[in-house]
Amino acid sequence: MDTVISIENVSYHYPDAAENVLKNVSLAIPAGSFTAILGHNGSGKSTLAKLCNAILIPTEGRVTVNGLDTSLEDNLIPVRRTVGMVFQNPDNQIVASVVEDDVAFAPENLGVESAEIRRRVDDALRRVGMYEFRLHAPHLLSGGQKQRIAIAGVLAMQPKILVLDEPTAMLDPLGRKEVLSTVEELRAETGMTVLLITHHMDECIGADRVIVVSDGQLVMDGAPGEVFSRVEELRALGLDVPDTTETLYELRKAGLDLPLDALTIDACADVLAGLFTKSAE
Ligand code: ADP
Repeated sequence: MDTVISIENVSYHYPDAAENVLKNVSLAIPAGSFTAILGHNGSGKSTLAKLCNAILIPTEGRVTVNGLDTSLEDNLIPVRRTVGMVFQNPDNQIVASVVEDDVAFAPENLGVESAEIRRRVDDALRRVGMYEFRLHAPHLLSGGQKQRIAIAGVLAMQPKILVLDEPTAMLDPLGRKEVLSTVEELRAETGMTVLLITHHMDECIGADRVIVVSDGQLVMDGAPGEVFSRVEELRALGLDVPDTTETLYELRKAGLDLPLDALTIDACADVLAGLFTKSAE
């Protein structure tokens, strides 16, 4: 598969910081992949996200998006159009007083023609399940709904890659669920490349690859089942494993021979049901 974001030996140093927050990081993101970047607060995830669309430029090393070096001035606009970013706080991303105007804001600024804007806005709102709210006032919506509007606003720019930097951090459990299932559906329907930054392990279950960041370095990289099986190492990094893995891990410690990669509630329930069937035989 083609690499759409290539991060090569990248270090990043904030001007007033004592040391590098990213330390010689290399990472290739293939087209159409769904990658979760996981790490506790301060590990460097957000810095990594911002390097992906030239909000930040590496201090050392190189980031390319579709082959375009993000450090070159001429590439700034194509890079920003290719990589759409969604941030933590939906209130900071909403600019208009009517939902559909908000979603239309970025394509209008790009000079997209009005019939095309109408089509993109309707399509983006349908994709995030907010079409029927198109004439509502965004500030009256729930956090999860506002974040879905923010995602629609980014989709209306038709980026090839969607980077979401802790999009659920300010949401209640229902809002978190809403936003995550929106992202998972989007990815399934459009095959878009998605990079989801999070410090919640359970948000990584739907990804095809999980990368764990600690102290500015990539310390694990694999399928969710593989990464989450490394329970002790994850705990040592200050991360909590999903409840499903935790349950299976404790049962294994108690002597049962169970896999640790049954991540969804359904898969975990199947494993546990299997125990009862076995013992009934
Ligand atoms: P995360 O997203 O994992 O919480 P960040 O990338 O936001 O991590 O931050 C990594 C480190 O960089 C933290 O120690 C943070 O304090 C520091 N940092 C973040 N932004 C700035 C900044 N603008 N100036 C100086 N240090 C910063």
